[in-house]
Amino acid sequence: MIFYQTVDSDKQEKELLISPEQLLDSVARATKNGFVAFDLENKITLFSPKMTEVTGWHEAEILGKDLKELYASKEANFPKNPEDVISQPVVLFTRDGKQINLETRLTSIINKGVTAGYLVFFVIEDYNKDLDRAQSEFISTVSHELRTPITSIKGFASTLLQQSQTIAEEKRNKYINIIKNQAERLSRLVEDLLAVSRLESKKLQLTIHPVKLKPIIERVTIIVESKHKNSHQFDISCSDTLPDIWVDADRLEQILTNLIDNAVKYSPGQETVEIKVRVCQHDGKEMLRVNIIDYGIGIEEGNIRKIFTKFSRLDSPLTRSTEGTGLGLYISYSLTKLLGGDLTVTSEDGKTTFCLYLPLESHEGGAVWWD
Ligand code: ADP
Repeated sequence: MIFYQTVDSDKQEKELLISPEQLLDSVARATKNGFVAFDLENKITLFSPKMTEVTGWHEAEILGKDLKELYASKEANFPKNPEDVISQPVVLFTRDGKQINLETRLTSIINKGVTAGYLVFFVIEDYNKDLDRAQSEFISTVSHELRTPITSIKGFASTLLQQSQTIAEEKRNKYINIIKNQAERLSRLVEDLLAVSRLESKKLQLTIHPVKLKPIIERVTIIVESKHKNSHQFDISCSDTLPDIWVDADRLEQILTNLIDNAVKYSPGQETVEIKVRVCQHDGKEMLRVNIIDYGIGIEEGNIRKIFTKFSRLDSPLTRSTEGTGLGLYISYSLTKLLGGDLTVTSEDGKTTFCLYLPLESHEGGAVWWD
């Protein structure tokens, strides 16, 4: 390959025609496939734009992260000889917690004769076919979720109409209540679907301001408390002297409402939900951390990633009898990332902790979107 031209043959001087970065940029644009490089400590060092299209991870958030953030496959084969290329299927985590299968070709990056890392080419062409299938699955799930309350509303409304003269008042009120509850379920579902659609079509406008967290937490707990008829108490530990966070206040309220509402919903019979706020270091930055702790049914280790994906509700008698769309955590996680924060969860020995990290400075300022 010619990267240099000779400018002075007597002095053997050469000028760089094209830098490796420029060449890589052109290759990244021209190819239908994606590529990722990582060093010998498994830290991601290169993430091409096609990989963002497929996984949702943005270069800025994935560079420097450990490969296991991206790789759901536990094992990968590495070349015995540096020049070898190894073809293998891998499973990747997308940013919203889904798992996708891609074919790859892995080879060594050689610097001064020794292996300095690895480059993986991902075959993305076939992936779009899978995407079409995922979209059909989404439409079918949504249709199913919509059909259930509609069928119920239609059925009970017809019964009320046909038997209006004969039906006892107690029964009539029961049917009317079912219709009301199902209509509310429908309206929650439509609201959540609209939020998902705004998030995914990137039409969401954020207004980032310095915000005091404590009044928001207090407001949200009052709303959740009254929704659940004071079934739980909130043990809030949030100093008045904490620094302001830089967020969109309405979106933050939406995230906190979902997390605190879940803490109550999934810990019936328990009395307390704890909310603890501290300044901490996260991903090398000083951030405000809000821990929302409940002592309820807990989440198995293997389900931790799953709960952040669309329509995922863990199978348990409690979840089956609890109202929910399975969209709340997907929306909360996506919004948190948009605000420049992070959302993680641990669940052990009957204690479930959602950690919400919020930025202490404007990460982009004003009304922002990712790109
Ligand atoms: P939902 O509308 O079902 O509550 P979410 O997206 O908010 O949807 O949560 C997804 C699933 O994660 C829930 O259905 C539940 O199975 C699980 N989950 C969420 N929060 C908790 C929690 N605090 N404790 C146990 N399970 C939880």
